[in-house]
Amino acid sequence: MTTAARAAALQARAATHAIELENRHGAHNYQPLPVVLNRGAGVYLFDEQGRRYLDMMSAYSAVSFGHSHPALVQALTEQAGRLSVTSRAFHTDRLGPFLAALCRVTGMARALPMNSGAEAVETAIKAARKWAYKVKRVPDGQAQILVAEGNFAGRTTTIVGFSTEAQYRDGFGPFAPGFASVPFGDAKALEAAITPHTAAFIVEPIQGEAGIVVPPAGYLKAVRDICTRHNVLMICDEVQTGLGRTGRMLACDHEGVRPDGLTLGKALGGGLLPVSAFLAREDVMSQFTPGDHGSTFGGNPLAAAVGLAALELLEREQLARRAQEHGDHLMAQLRRLAHPAIKEVRGQGLLIGVEIDPSFASARAVCEALMAEGVLTKDTHGTVVRLAPPLVIERAQIDDAVAALGRVLKALDSRPRVCRAESVAA
Ligand SMILES: *Cc1c(COP(=O)(O)O)cnc(C)c1O
Repeated sequence: MTTAARAAALQARAATHAIELENRHGAHNYQPLPVVLNRGAGVYLFDEQGRRYLDMMSAYSAVSFGHSHPALVQALTEQAGRLSVTSRAFHTDRLGPFLAALCRVTGMARALPMNSGAEAVETAIKAARKWAYKVKRVPDGQAQILVAEGNFAGRTTTIVGFSTEAQYRDGFGPFAPGFASVPFGDAKALEAAITPHTAAFIVEPIQGEAGIVVPPAGYLKAVRDICTRHNVLMICDEVQTGLGRTGRMLACDHEGVRPDGLTLGKALGGGLLPVSAFLAREDVMSQFTPGDHGSTFGGNPLAAAVGLAALELLEREQLARRAQEHGDHLMAQLRRLAHPAIKEVRGQGLLIGVEIDPSFASARAVCEALMAEGVLTKDTHGTVVRLAPPLVIERAQIDDAVAALGRVLKALDSRPRVCRAESVAA
């Protein structure tokens, strides 16, 4: 064995060991692809053997700026060396500027900082209920919140309680009452479900985890009109679609719609920290009084500094416009593949789903084959390959990803039918 070969063998063993440690000591609540990453730079990730992968998933859109963006790392390290966590028991010099930037870029009146996306949605639920009791005068304990079928808003017990995905709920009840779901993309169904006790409708402008589901054109506008007419809060969950991902600052902007409440997360932390926020119009946010709600880490100066730097970067580099242009290009290139295994290509901006015909392969099998081609992404809902790279991706890198998918699909053609059946079961 050469020295290089011996080093590679040692590295491979280390990778196996890292996976074994996770398997032995962790909870098995994920099924990661068998790759052990130890470095990221821009749109690329590297494994322990130094192999380079194009990141076409960007941590479910949390890494919109690419890995270790120098401006964000600088903001993080400078702030970490000065002041990181104080709790909200005191003011800091970082929170105000962060909230002001959040309100300015979204056009909302006020912002309440949290950490994870689920916490932002929980905050939205509390705000909506309190508004319903105090302003809309819904009888105490009777407020109802409507959600869309296929929603994904996180993993807390309240949130999985209104999920329509059986596995997300199975074994985790009893669930909080006060929620009902209506079909996504059907404005008439929403209107029919509204009662005098309805406080809010929480909806993703494009459903991410459900498989990148784009509603019919005009849906958000129709939802806006219905919510206004019935005095129901329209709350958009833009934890995944917000901050440039779909080609506009907010996915709502595509239809010129301003919601009454808005949740942001994922990319807000610049790919470095969990940073989320609930934003709302004045009379909704003003329902919170001291002691009503809070979070030890929410709005800490480190998170605020990074969040502010992320918002500035988003505007300075015009990443929303980039997402639109590059997304259009990616979509066109994917459609040009015109492979029979591709049932549909859908999405907006750089949030794209490729629906794979399961008689050819599972989306998981496609992702595993893509990994061997140096492209990392993750399937969603068994049949959809998600393509949501960092917004800083270049056109040539997009073409690399499409070429890799082309090779993966071509290899499927030469596999016997029986293999295809196996990969469906896998
Ligand atoms: C990911 C996601 C969440 C939950 O965010 P976490 O940070 O994982 O809690 C909420 N809503 C949407 C639309 C999401 O995509």
